[in-house]
Amino acid sequence: CGIIGFTGNEPAKDIIIGGLERLEYRGYDSAGLALLSNDQIQVRKRTGKVEELRKLCEAEKMPATCGIGHTRWATHGGVTDVNAHPHRVGKVVLIHNGIIENYRQIVTEYGLADQLVSETDSEVVAALLNKFYEGDPVKAIKKTVKVLSGAFALCIMFQDIPDTIYAIRNVSPMVATSCERGSVIASDLTALIEFSKEYFVVPEYHILTLKKDGIDIQDLKGNKVTPQMLTVNWDI
Ligand code: GLU
Repeated sequence: CGIIGFTGNEPAKDIIIGGLERLEYRGYDSAGLALLSNDQIQVRKRTGKVEELRKLCEAEKMPATCGIGHTRWATHGGVTDVNAHPHRVGKVVLIHNGIIENYRQIVTEYGLADQLVSETDSEVVAALLNKFYEGDPVKAIKKTVKVLSGAFALCIMFQDIPDTIYAIRNVSPMVATSCERGSVIASDLTALIEFSKEYFVVPEYHILTLKKDGIDIQDLKGNKVTPQMLTVNWDI
């Protein structure tokens, strides 16, 4: 339901939890986050309010400056801690908004069943990405989205690619911006405007590479794309 990703010059944990709080108005049943630092991925997630997630992470030292967060509105699989996002398979961790319509076929066709621990359509995407991943995230994402049908907004991190978030969408919304604090992506503007009033709508089927000093956008053929910047004309 809600998505936020941040990579920048300050710890990501509070930014992500703050962003999820701004997205709470959309409604949700679970919340979670993943942080990436020193080749390690930490995942914390649970059913209930963002406040619960905040408590879960409160006492923990989490210095990572790159991470992703999600509020879930369950469509496939019950409301459980395991089904909450992020989903991690091997070196891949991701959050997903939307519905992958052909997830059952994908599980069968690519033999992914023994890698899955949740009942969600989303975890199947993580398993497929992990299967295709051989050190080149963009290549793995391209191969994966060719297989997917349905609506999706995905934010992805790879354990061995530091400080970087990848994103791609079809139908489900995402907006992004870059400022001196870092690069941010979210499912809607309410989570972005504390960073900048300049933003862009993520174009469909384009791969975003978010690093702290900027966002690279390419189409599926590898052409670099310059986003059309928009300005928010309301205050928070
Ligand atoms: N279909 C996914 C799930 O049930 C994502 C739901 C959402 O957009 O929050 O976990």
